[in-house]
Amino acid sequence: MRLWTWQSKDFSLFEKSQKVESIKHSFYVNKYPNLNIREKHREAYEKMFQKLDTNQLIWCFTNYIESIEKASIEEFEKIRHCLLWEIDIPDNEIIWYCNAAWNTLRTGKPAMPEGIWEIFHSSEYLFPEEAKRYENEFNIFWSGNAIEDLLNLVFLKKPVFDLGLPNARSTGCSGALVIHPVDIQKIIKNPFEIGRWWNGPTQKNWPINNDANILKIIPCLNCPGR
Ligand SMILES: [Zn+2]
Repeated sequence: MRLWTWQSKDFSLFEKSQKVESIKHSFYVNKYPNLNIREKHREAYEKMFQKLDTNQLIWCFTNYIESIEKASIEEFEKIRHCLLWEIDIPDNEIIWYCNAAWNTLRTGKPAMPEGIWEIFHSSEYLFPEEAKRYENEFNIFWSGNAIEDLLNLVFLKKPVFDLGLPNARSTGCSGALVIHPVDIQKIIKNPFEIGRWWNGPTQKNWPINNDANILKIIPCLNCPGR
């Protein structure tokens, strides 16, 4: 499956001698204003590394447009210092995780994955009762889990990102992790070789949903990929 990942301009995805330093480079661990959130993020990373038995994790986007629109604050602030890679990884080598579980783990409170939040938010005006019910159920499901429980909930057996909903690019919750280094033959676009190949940030397309049932089928209350 094609994946996209931002990396700092001196980091090569296929050089074994280079090490991923997620904690050192994390905006949320090092620069986020709220110290409690910084500590939560650090703890979430460490728990994730323990669980997977490696800290050489590459966080990837599953959609090119999303990699442009939804790159983190860090990537946008330092956009000139980050390069976008496109890779092609066999499905059985991708570690899928549920963004709802990861968000809850790293912030300490329930937080909808962005694609789901967009559906929820655009449904709020049209179907306020259904939206409120969804939000309540979401918060009840995701609050009150101990760290160890969240760690067990975080990984998915299969990705959940294509529910075939109209006008919504990413309606699921699945994030993709790949272990560094990546085999050189799996690299499709290497920015060291071809220079800047991606477009600048584009206008966000908000999903437009005219059906309250959409709230019933979006995942993460009980993730269908688990
Ligand atoms: Zn999920």
